[in-house]
This record gives sequence, C-alpha cells and structure tokens, in this order.
Amino acid sequence: MANPGKGTFLITGGLGYIGSHTVVEMLQRNYNVVVIDNLSNSSELVLDRIASICGRKPVFYPIDLCDKPALEAVFAKEKELQAVIHFAALKAVGESVEKPLLYYKNNLISLVNLMDCMIENSVNNLVFSSSCTVYGEPDVLPVTEKSPVKQAISPYGNTKQVGEEIIHDTTQSSQLRSIALRYFNPVGAHSSGKLGELPLGKPNNLVPLITQTAVGIFPFLRIFGNDYSTPDGTCIRDYIHVEDVAVAHVIACERLLSGKGENYEVFNIGTGTGYSVLEVVKAFEKASGLNLPIQIEERRAGDIEKVFADTSLSNQILGWKATRSLDEMMSSAWVWQQSLINKE
Ligand code: NAD
Ligand code: UDP
Repeated sequence: MANPGKGTFLITGGLGYIGSHTVVEMLQRNYNVVVIDNLSNSSELVLDRIASICGRKPVFYPIDLCDKPALEAVFAKEKELQAVIHFAALKAVGESVEKPLLYYKNNLISLVNLMDCMIENSVNNLVFSSSCTVYGEPDVLPVTEKSPVKQAISPYGNTKQVGEEIIHDTTQSSQLRSIALRYFNPVGAHSSGKLGELPLGKPNNLVPLITQTAVGIFPFLRIFGNDYSTPDGTCIRDYIHVEDVAVAHVIACERLLSGKGENYEVFNIGTGTGYSVLEVVKAFEKASGLNLPIQIEERRAGDIEKVFADTSLSNQILGWKATRSLDEMMSSAWVWQQSLINKE
C-alpha cells in the first residue's frame, strides 16, 4: 500500500541484484517504490521475495526502457515520482566485447529515453549506477573522484563513461540534478537470506564462482595470476557488501531531494580497503568452514592489478559509510548459495 507521507522513487532494474536490495531499503524506510525491469537478467519471483521481507511489493512495470512509448505511459501514470535510481543495464564485460551494439543500444538508448521522460515530466533527480571501471588501472591509490578517467577497455565500461558524460552535460542545461555512484566490487547477499545475485549461466565474478565451486558446480576456483606486484601476487579489489551499496542510494536520493550540492556529483562507493583474491578465498573458507580447491592460472586479459577507493568524499559529503565486513560479505553469499541449492 502506498504511503502518502513519503516520497515515491522509480527504480529501473529494480528486480536485479543491486536494485532489489535497494528496493528493500527504500520500502523498509517507508518510501513508495515503482520498479521498471524487462526481466532480461532477473525474475518476477523477486517481487515475492521483496514482499516477504518488507510486507509489501513495489508497483511493477515489466517494460523495456528502450521502448519509449511504454516508458512515457509509465510516467503518464506515475505522477508522484520524485527521483529515479537507474540501475537497468547489461553488465557482462566479455559479452559487451562480442556484442558492442547490443550494449550501446541497451545501456545508452535506455538512459536517453529515461532522461527525456524525466525532463518532460519535471522529475529532476537522478541517481546513476556507475563503476570504478572508469578509473582503469589507476596511477595512484586509493582512487579519488578526481582521479583521471582512463580509456575504457570494454564497450560495457564505455557505456558507464559515456553515461556519466550524457548526464553531466544534461545537468548543465536543464533542471536535472544527478549523483553518479561509482561502485567498486559489490558482493554478498541480503541478511534475510531471501535475496542475492542470480547470475544466468556461468558467472564471471569472483564471489559467485567461489560459492558455486564450494557447492561442487565447479571442481576448483581458477585464480587468474599470482605474479602481480601485490603482497601475495594476486589482484586487489575493494569488495563492498551489496546492502551497504543499497543504503548509499537511499542517502543519494535524500541528498538530491534536499537540494544540497552541485547539479552533478560523483561519489566512490567502496569500503576503502583492498583485499587480494587469496584473502577473499580465506575469508570464504572461514565463513563456510570449507577448504576451497583452487588452481593458479594465467592472468586474465584486461584485469587491473589493484584498485580501491578513497571514500572521504562519500563519507564526509554524502554522509554514507560502508559498515559491513568482508566476513559478512562472505557469510551472506554462502547462506544465499546454499538457499539456491536447497531449492533445486
Ligand atoms: P543486474 O543484471 O542484476 O540488474 C540489472 C537489471 O536491469 C536486471 O534485472 C535486468 O533485467 C534489467 N534491465 C537491463 N536492461 C534493461 C532495459 N533495457 N529495460 C529494463 N530493464 C533492464 O545487475 P546489477 O549487478 O544489479 O547492476 C546494476 C547496475 O549497477 C548496472 O547498471 C551495472 O552496470 C552497475 N554496476 C554493477 C556492478 C556489479 O558488480 N554488480 C559494479 C559496478 C556497476
Ligand atoms: N578472479 C579470479 N578467478 C575467477 C574470477 C575472478 O581469480 O574465477 C579474480 C579476477 O582476476 C580479479 C578479481 O578476482 O582480480 C575480481 O574479479 P571480478 O570479475 O569479480 O571483478 P572485476 O575484475 O570486474 O573487478
């Protein structure tokens, strides 16, 4: 049931991994939520999971953001929208190299359609899902929001860079205000055990590969290189709990609605701590009580050696800070993986 006292937010891609956690955060804080998702990488069953955590469902439109008339119809119907959080995108780096036009069409036409509808309907607040991929291999660590944006190594990464530019330019010539959140490596699952990542097909990311190896779907975890110049030779990333990422969106929306800040702002969303692949494996072993079979392999093409965030700006200006530990990331991912297996 709608809560008349609170704002209403449109969440695109709201049935996906990060989107669904954000929908839950918003509903739990009594905001009203409208979701658009074309289900290309998610399932409508996520709505029931959300309802079982929050006691209510968001309003749901199963449309594609590239379908402008369908999007216009949603804006015509939903007259109370105050802000939009735009998660919807395709995100598989390797697939984007094989099918660049699919990625440019899906990720950029959807963004332009969305911003057109927002401006036409005076919905002037936008939170955008960006990525630390825009920093490439950084010259100086930790990376701040002022670190240079490096040439993208994949069409996917380029859609994030170009997306940021499209939004920046539009905020300079319209009433639109926007915050781009550059996530580092979101991992883990909801503390209820009812939501998590549902990678279709073989996952590419480290944590789903760890948990799927632990349940025997893969015989061992391939570790891509142990000859990097890091303490144990494996790559370093800033892993961040998906629930901490979700909270950052609530705070970003509240900042936009308060009218504080510049028309366009960018914040790093990480913990500020880098962990190596082997440290993540150890944390998983501690959380699960299992020994994970591993095999050291060649470096993976395009991998960054190390990257982690300077979070001062998001801590001080946005007023957000990650609170969950690597152990909590691993134990929640493990609970989620086991719940999936128990359903099979
Ligand atoms: P996800 O695939 O789980 O969720 C994206 C959702 O958007 C899916 O439910 C999909 O069905 C939907 N969608 C895609 N294209 C659509 C379209 N044209 N119209 C309507 N719905 C559409 O991905 P996620 O991990 O939750 O990522 C959310 C956002 O965060 C993406 O923009 C992604 O690029 C960005 N991001 C993710 C990570 C990560 O590691 N997960 C890191 C940095 C940035
Ligand atoms: N990684 C690995 N084996 C895998 C998958 C990933 O060793 O099967 C490493 C990868 O080389 C990188 C880190 O884990 O150093 C995180 O990879 P992921 O794909 O999750 O994120 P990204 O590379 O996009 O930061």
